[in-house]
Amino acid sequence: MKAAARLALIAVVTVGLGAAALYAMGVRLADLSHWGQDRNALVIDGEVVRIPSVTGQPRRLAPVVIVATTGEWKLSNIAAGGTVLHDPCIPIRWTVSTDRMPPGADGVVSQAVAEVAARTGLVWEGADYSSAPVTFDREPLVDEAGWRWAPVMIGWSTQAESADLAGSTSGVGGPIVTRGAYGTDEYLRSGTIVLDLEEFPADLGNAADWARAKALVMHELGHVVGLDHVSDSRELMFPEVTSTVEWGPGDLAGLAAAGAGRCEQP
Ligand SMILES: [Zn+2]
Repeated sequence: MKAAARLALIAVVTVGLGAAALYAMGVRLADLSHWGQDRNALVIDGEVVRIPSVTGQPRRLAPVVIVATTGEWKLSNIAAGGTVLHDPCIPIRWTVSTDRMPPGADGVVSQAVAEVAARTGLVWEGADYSSAPVTFDREPLVDEAGWRWAPVMIGWSTQAESADLAGSTSGVGGPIVTRGAYGTDEYLRSGTIVLDLEEFPADLGNAADWARAKALVMHELGHVVGLDHVSDSRELMFPEVTSTVEWGPGDLAGLAAAGAGRCEQP
């Protein structure tokens, strides 16, 4: 009995030392469960950057949203393994580009983000401001004393500067899709919203213009969390601007589904 206990103790110490030695070599404990498996990586500015891995036991940051409404909704990203969604265990950071921002529009964006956060159960962390112009030419990872998922960037541009805004398009938005740290599962990360300065409601002191502007941003945020267009004009995810300025019943069901993705496991 005594000998058996000592043996067990020695075994634990050995495992502990082994883990400590590996840690010192730069191998994180979470990596041990993926021994022999290549870590996924992205090439950013010519540099191979390993996708951040999850440590500890991931937990949803906010509860899954339960909805009672039904209507038309559709997800954009369907992969072989199922739907591709944001990881609800990671906050979505967001930044507003002040480069062409109409006066008062940051308040519109804040309210739209709050609505999407509440309806999806995804936690949004921000807001930050950047004077850089918004562009779709962005990487999903940024080096901030260590690589992190880039914030969703929301900004304004013109048809002359952004070909995506050609014609009657009032805005374009979407996420970036990447794999998790290991394996082939994909997740939505970060995102970009480019709003057409010439189509954006001009008088944000006017309640109707404010509501229309917020609806435009909510529609694009819907894309960022993975929603596609629908054919029902009573939904905000209808592809054209209508008199609808609040989420429709299908939008609400879709947003709840968009926020009910899986957490990446360590
Ligand atoms: Zn759209």
